[in-house]
Amino acid sequence: MNEATDIISNLGIVKERIAVATEKAGRVPGSVRLLLATKTVPAERIRVAIEAGSALTGENKVQELKEKDHLLRNLPVERHFIGHLQTNKIKEVLKYVNCIQSLDRPELAEKLHQRLVYEGRTMEVLVQVNTSFEQSKFGTHPDDAFRLIEKVRSLDTLQVKGLMTIGLFAADPEKVRPSFRLLREIRDQALRSGLLPPGADVLSMGMSGDLETAIEEGATIVRVGTSIFGKRQYPDSYYWNERNN
Ligand SMILES: *Cc1c(COP(=O)(O)O)cnc(C)c1O
Repeated sequence: MNEATDIISNLGIVKERIAVATEKAGRVPGSVRLLLATKTVPAERIRVAIEAGSALTGENKVQELKEKDHLLRNLPVERHFIGHLQTNKIKEVLKYVNCIQSLDRPELAEKLHQRLVYEGRTMEVLVQVNTSFEQSKFGTHPDDAFRLIEKVRSLDTLQVKGLMTIGLFAADPEKVRPSFRLLREIRDQALRSGLLPPGADVLSMGMSGDLETAIEEGATIVRVGTSIFGKRQYPDSYYWNERNN
């Protein structure tokens, strides 16, 4: 098999996993979207997946968004940012994405708002919560999540659609389940109290190794890289650690 047929058959397998898990969880078919996590993946390979019917991608680094943009710009795909976002990259990231899933601190919300006011536009965001309590991961502490959502709601250029988490990094998906459950509980409470607006029910959680568990716990977006594009050269800590971003 060549690389393109690999990607297409992997995509089929992942879509089937999503469909089976959605049905098993008693959820509405099609209620879970697949986001292609494309860090380190060359644009030509991403394009194969998009042409095979993928409509949503996520990048972790602004530099990669920029480098791959010319090959992907005109394709029918929604692009999200899923990595740690430094405030000095705001202007750049806004050129490429439809949604920033990694809004993790008030300062970032404030700076995004300032830039969006200047550009006269709005941006969809998810509030990223650190549900694993690991220091090496980004996201606001669960105790501060409501305050951050409140902050985001006070800024009228930011349209909050829900929440995102990475979850505990563990080989056993059962160990990750409490992370996913916590994110759902935070969302449900925020929806009930009106802190999140009606319909802002996105839960972006679950990756190659634990997407079934995430779907059982209510994920509406799963972010999958390895199971579609193969193993990456760099460990994820390279992407998830502040010093390297
Ligand atoms: C890399 C990455 C993923 C996908 O992880 P895989 O294990 O390769 O499926 C999902 N979310 C984020 C934020 C990532 O950085």
